[in-house]
Amino acid sequence: MTAPKHFEVGPLQQRLCERRRELLAALHGEYGDLAGARPPEVLGPESHPDETASRKAHDVLRTALARHDSDELQQIDAALARIAAGRYGACVECGDSIGYERLVAAPYAVRCVSCQTAFEHRANRK
Ligand SMILES: [Zn+2]
Repeated sequence: MTAPKHFEVGPLQQRLCERRRELLAALHGEYGDLAGARPPEVLGPESHPDETASRKAHDVLRTALARHDSDELQQIDAALARIAAGRYGACVECGDSIGYERLVAAPYAVRCVSCQTAFEHRANRK
């Protein structure tokens, strides 16, 4: 069996769609009530004075998680758009093939390994 020149995007597209659904559910469910979030237990009148501070810290963490999910969602949307445009699997910088194994590991990768390494190197130097 020889490696196909143009790999099958179907399974990857399906994985992207599934992950997209998960993220949307998480964002709209788990993170959907950030502003009006209530603690799971009803707090008595003797609640700790630092309760507000710790709840605030918790909300900050939840917001950060929601933002991370939003970022991932954008990357997934971009990958699905590239699939639709027939450009999926090509590096956005050099145009070379990203490689099927790399896409299986990271279905919304936009760069080949060498361009990604150079990109991260530039980002880390900021
Ligand atoms: Zn490249």
